[in-house]
Amino acid sequence: MPHPPALVASISGLREHLAARRTLGPVGFVPTMGALHEGHATLIRGARKGNATVVVSIFVNPLQFDRQEDLARYPRTLEADAALCETLGVDVVFAPTAAEMYPEPLMMGVTVGRLGDHLCGPSRPGHFAGVATVVLKLLQIVQPDRAYFGEKDAQQLAIIRRLVTDFNLPVTIVGMPTIREADGLAMSSRNRRLSPEGRRAALALVRALTATTRAIVEGVADAVAARAAGQREVREDDAVRLEYLEIVDPATLQPVDQVRGPVLVAGALWADGVRLIDNMPASPGPH
Ligand code: AMP
Repeated sequence: MPHPPALVASISGLREHLAARRTLGPVGFVPTMGALHEGHATLIRGARKGNATVVVSIFVNPLQFDRQEDLARYPRTLEADAALCETLGVDVVFAPTAAEMYPEPLMMGVTVGRLGDHLCGPSRPGHFAGVATVVLKLLQIVQPDRAYFGEKDAQQLAIIRRLVTDFNLPVTIVGMPTIREADGLAMSSRNRRLSPEGRRAALALVRALTATTRAIVEGVADAVAARAAGQREVREDDAVRLEYLEIVDPATLQPVDQVRGPVLVAGALWADGVRLIDNMPASPGPH
């Protein structure tokens, strides 16, 4: 039977707890904002496999929210999250308050550069700087050997890989594939804010990404044409609005005009006032 994880809210408490465990072997870390679902569970299982100690953080980071309403409405389900962590064999749940993480406003910060210029960057000012800053803080606090992130947030993953390179952080970043519902919708904590109608309408995003990916595989090299194939899948009405559908270089995240090699097809869609993101890799087929 798995033991309940230690529930730790203070940075000093976490450091003490981990100091005693580090001699057991590698520490794996899964940072989250809680409202855990099967996507998070996959990251946690990945961490459980290769590490002696697994730490999951649950922290809804105010610094990365560009809309106060989104921060206020973000689901918070700590009890259920701790219960799931127990079934997955997590050793430590680190759930600090905002006051513990930010006892006073930061004077220093991380700037993200051109990896934040496209996709979600333009519509979410300050978001990726907030993500990079909190991940830098969490990595310094936990000092894991490995940290696990989902490919569902591909731009975030690329930015964190670069954060680790640029600041020589002694951690291995492990990317994990996107977990989807049976009908293809990417799992997200925000999905639970969708009405049944919005939930159905939200499938337009995965249809758009699939259609764009298919066009690329079938030999459509012109990015405008490939994107048009995806855009046709979204019927603009009150229920959904496509914020962007882009084809970018997977490493630099810069838009490509002509698809000649592997690319990332990524999109953001609004349904029911909820903003959802998703992405798929694509490569031109053999022609
Ligand atoms: P969040 O709690 O939304 O900040 O996500 C915490 C981590 O879980 C991030 O690394 C996300 O990329 C990852 N994640 C969220 N949803 C999924 C999913 N559907 N599949 C795989 N990873 C996910």
